[in-house]
Amino acid sequence: MKLGKYLVSPNYFVMFAKQSPEMPSYSRSEENYLKAIFTICEKAAKGASTTAIAQRLETRSSSVTEMVKRLSEKGLVDHRPYYGVKLTDTGRQVAITIIRRHRLWESFLVTYLNFKWDEVHELAEQLEHVRSNELTDRLDRFMDHPKFDPHGDPIPDPQGHFMDMAGAVPLSEVGKDTLVHIVGVKDSSPSFLRLLDGLGLKMGSQITVNRRFDFDNSLEVSSRFRNGLLMNERVCENLIVKPL
Ligand SMILES: [Zn+2]
Repeated sequence: MKLGKYLVSPNYFVMFAKQSPEMPSYSRSEENYLKAIFTICEKAAKGASTTAIAQRLETRSSSVTEMVKRLSEKGLVDHRPYYGVKLTDTGRQVAITIIRRHRLWESFLVTYLNFKWDEVHELAEQLEHVRSNELTDRLDRFMDHPKFDPHGDPIPDPQGHFMDMAGAVPLSEVGKDTLVHIVGVKDSSPSFLRLLDGLGLKMGSQITVNRRFDFDNSLEVSSRFRNGLLMNERVCENLIVKPL
């Protein structure tokens, strides 16, 4: 290829494109830390403690301290003594990008490749590190911009906005005769998801609470396909629903 007075091989452009992506590239481990910090901070109002990060990533506190220092030098986290670790705007943006890829891949695997929803998390953990905004956007378009992954977790849009989960409550807090639809699970372990499969319930399923039993706070609910489903308190506490 001739470009001006220079002769340039097409590979040059491939190399160049790889070296200047829209987002600087981070190691898989760095990305996992950012995602973990994001998730911890989302649930608690304050920063993530070293212990919480270590627990989530199943690693030692000393490794966390080292990595937090590195991330802080790269301007991705803010670490102040006693306040814990918080993501900077850039760190947050990176974390949300990875979460978006993860949840889009999970949706793709379930909807188009017929994986069960309890099988996809581990695969998505690997696929989320494939860095290509073009691939992510095409995946999103191909599936017609899904708003939730198979576990009911909201998929952020390309600008990093999450769907509003306001009004979503555990099924255990829903009153009699209220029509709701399932929007998430608190417990996304394979065993819980298999139980829901067994009950014929999935994201978006509409259910009505018929009765509440004082004895053990279990609920009798009806779905479109089944009447009189008895669900114990633990199941109800782990199923997130929104009134319709
Ligand atoms: Zn997952």
